[in-house]
Amino acid sequence: MMATEYKKPLPVPENPEPSRPFWEAAKRHELVMPRCKRCNDLFWYPREQCPNCFSQEIDWVTVSGKGKVYAFTIVYQAAHPEYQKEAPYVFAAIDLLEGTRIISNVIGIPPDQVKVDMSVEAVFEDVTPEWTLVKFKPAK
Ligand SMILES: [Zn+2]
Repeated sequence: MMATEYKKPLPVPENPEPSRPFWEAAKRHELVMPRCKRCNDLFWYPREQCPNCFSQEIDWVTVSGKGKVYAFTIVYQAAHPEYQKEAPYVFAAIDLLEGTRIISNVIGIPPDQVKVDMSVEAVFEDVTPEWTLVKFKPAK
């Protein structure tokens, strides 16, 4: 879906290089994670070195987008007035089936119905022509 009037500030990366494949995949509505070519570890967030073995040989793999809520909080007081318009909303840590943990929002459900261990799947919000955000909704 394309939001026609997305006015919230987008916290875009200052150095886009390490996460560029992630954002490009998000625009294709695909979720990818960096993987170390040396130790095979998937990791999140994107960075130039494997956090496990410090190798700089990284490739990117497509993941299922399916996972479970590891932990979450309901935001009632947003840090920015433009985000306050959507409050309350859910800020969550999602454990993907592939074993990495990603921080995102859980949408498509009233915040007070979100539960730890709830199954979720990725959804993609095309908020501007340049940026697509990855969020999660309850899995079917
Ligand atoms: Zn490694």
